[in-house]
Amino acid sequence: MIDTMKIAIQQVNKTRVSEIDFANLAFGKVYTDHMFMADYREGTWKNFRIVPYGYMPVSPATPAIHYGQSIFEGMKAYASADGNEALVFRPMDNWKRMNISAERMCMPQIPEELFMESLNTLIDLDRAWVPNVEGSSLYIRPFMFSADEYIGIRPSLDFTFMIILSPVGPYYATPVKVKIETHYTRAVQGGTGYAKAGGNYGGAIYPAKLAQDKGYHQLLWTDGKNHEYIEESGTMNVMFVIDDVLVTPALSDSILAGITRQSVLDLARHWGMKTEERKVSVKELVSALEQGRVQEAFGAGTAATIAHIELIGHDGKDYKLPPVSERKFSPRAFQELENVKHGKSPDLFGWIHRI
Ligand SMILES: *Cc1c(COP(=O)(O)O)cnc(C)c1O
Repeated sequence: MIDTMKIAIQQVNKTRVSEIDFANLAFGKVYTDHMFMADYREGTWKNFRIVPYGYMPVSPATPAIHYGQSIFEGMKAYASADGNEALVFRPMDNWKRMNISAERMCMPQIPEELFMESLNTLIDLDRAWVPNVEGSSLYIRPFMFSADEYIGIRPSLDFTFMIILSPVGPYYATPVKVKIETHYTRAVQGGTGYAKAGGNYGGAIYPAKLAQDKGYHQLLWTDGKNHEYIEESGTMNVMFVIDDVLVTPALSDSILAGITRQSVLDLARHWGMKTEERKVSVKELVSALEQGRVQEAFGAGTAATIAHIELIGHDGKDYKLPPVSERKFSPRAFQELENVKHGKSPDLFGWIHRI
């Protein structure tokens, strides 16, 4: 349910945009002038407002803080070639996924109009913050959390939906070293791995830190039952090129259905490449690595688009992959996705939403 979608706008007196060094943006440190907020009360979304970005009062008893009843999304807007438009990549897919997360976490659905109108209005207002620097973009973070003042565990009644925006610099794609994790678990069958739910990420920091202490950048997560099958890479989906076939773990309830993953699969199929979404066992991967049949490995996600993997560690052994300069598919897919996102390549799949 949704009230008539009228957004009250309280603008800042003076924009901070001229204080920002757009040539040197770190990820997630700078936020734009405004943020969007909406309240869910008595079964209805209401109080649509855009206010100056800043701290906000939250009850110390909110279940979001105590029990992690909180979900989020992540997407990006890019400046068009003439700089006049913000091009958002596949936002309707993020909207659909947010509602899948909401259902799993016993939170209300976000109507399409609420998601898209708030996005359009906020980005239009903070348009000057969309970086017009090669490789940079405006990171968009919609999120929803329980706003009850009640520390009992039950389905919450009140919720807050918000969007904040952060200009981000180019992701310098230095290839990463990953370790196959066979003790800790990110997500289990029947769990919340397919939802972008806060607690999934909090619990993954410690095992990732242990791997970083050993010189790896992130983990290759495996299934929670027997640690037999590859699932994801850090907070990205993982994809391989083995014997000229693009192979990626099939979606399940312990894998997040990435929009970058889907876009890479769509491109590969469009280019006539053979693709397989199926179970990928650790055993299969390690034996293909030993035989030198793994031509490419990479993470796929909004932050980096494609993060090349240069080394995979397993059982105390490190397997090196061919240098990125010898890889044929992932650099081409990365470039094509960048071109589409910036409006330089035709939008064959209807991925771009213009604001
Ligand atoms: C967000 C996310 C991804 C990537 O999804 P995109 O839509 O491509 O950004 C993959 N895995 C996990 C666990 C994620 O949270």
